[in-house]
Amino acid sequence: MARKIGSRYTAHQILGRGSAGTVWLGEGPDGPVAVKLLREDLASDQELVGRFVQERSALLGLEHPRIVSVRDLVVDGDDLALVMDLVRGTDLRTRLDRERRLAPEAAVAIVADIADALAVAHAAGVVHRDVKPENVLLDMQGPIGPGGSHPALLTDFGVAKLIDSPRRPGPPPGGGRLAPTRIIGTPDYLAPEIIEGLPPRAAVDIYALATVLYELLAGFTPFGGGHPGAVLRRHVTETVVPLPGIPEELWQLLVQCLAKAPASRLRASELSTRLRELLPLLAGMPPLDVDEPEGAEGAEPVHEESCPATSQENARRRGAVPLVPGTATDSNRDTHTSMRVPGPDELAGGALGTARVPRPAGAPRPGSARHRAEAARRRRLLLTTAAVALAAAIGVGGYLAASSDEDPQRPPDSRNSAPAAP
Ligand code: ADP
Repeated sequence: MARKIGSRYTAHQILGRGSAGTVWLGEGPDGPVAVKLLREDLASDQELVGRFVQERSALLGLEHPRIVSVRDLVVDGDDLALVMDLVRGTDLRTRLDRERRLAPEAAVAIVADIADALAVAHAAGVVHRDVKPENVLLDMQGPIGPGGSHPALLTDFGVAKLIDSPRRPGPPPGGGRLAPTRIIGTPDYLAPEIIEGLPPRAAVDIYALATVLYELLAGFTPFGGGHPGAVLRRHVTETVVPLPGIPEELWQLLVQCLAKAPASRLRASELSTRLRELLPLLAGMPPLDVDEPEGAEGAEPVHEESCPATSQENARRRGAVPLVPGTATDSNRDTHTSMRVPGPDELAGGALGTARVPRPAGAPRPGSARHRAEAARRRRLLLTTAAVALAAAIGVGGYLAASSDEDPQRPPDSRNSAPAAP
């Protein structure tokens, strides 16, 4: 079923569907292309049309073997289409869904490729802002590299903005933070500074890419799961927990690039170099043996009148704070365009922890009866220790008071020494 797109392109078959459009295998004057066609029912949405147009402008001038270049933008009647380089392969999400976890060598090789793409984009003043496995394409016709991985390319600069673009609002009068009312991105990969209202700089892409690396190794993102509000809060308040069996050098890189402070993260070119240096160390290493994060296997349900959900959904939503009033709970990885910047109170969160921590084997599941019993035991132990310490202090004080009464000749120094056991 071929269809014409503008006067120069013909779309032949659907390659994939994204949040904003359908990607077709097409043919143009210079050969095969990929054509992203905005969904017809959304073509009248001015905001989405704006994002679509922006995708091309952000890519102008970006040419690199690891970047999917936009060649043309077609506006033709109801059709709005981006014409891109065709990548014959699959996206990284599809591969991850199939394999669940990648061997560290393959994961690092893929992420190093994307770091190369980001280095070029950042040097040109472009921040991607939506780095995630869905936007990484694997070129199956390219040469096989370390860990058996094919070359990876970064696509979909649909939410990218040029740094210092005139369209970006300036800082508020008197300086200080920008306070945009909305966040664009995908919750699992959002850097904390975006959530706190700072303008997105290159470091947000590094944070997102490190999140992707963690996900490729672990099979889940470090702070994802449940309501977007809970995910945003975790980015700001929680620390990433080590993955069992991960080589220390790789872990240190991840920690550095997942730092809450953007300035602490590596630059894209440094990240690429450091990752490639690790490849020989990782050669032949099997995928990590990581336990499921908490909540993935049935925690206690919470009662949220506003958002009825199945018990399985509840398991992934403990402590969720709704930051997007009126929207349904979701865990999907589509690009979100209507999240708002949460307030400090919301980021502080409730009493329930929501970290997705890989549990060591044998450790009780948080919220389980065993977990509660152990917590109660720890509390009892703490209270007992405190009581003993208090009793000892009173005992010592009493003894010293008594001995000073009894023996006024005693040298002052000796009052500091512990009493002999009764
Ligand atoms: P959206 O930005 O609307 O979410 P994507 O850019 O993620 O859409 O594209 C959806 C799917 O289309 C991808 O997962 C991939 O399978 C396919 N696709 C996208 N771009 C290309 C391309 N340049 N070449 C080949 N396939 C592509």
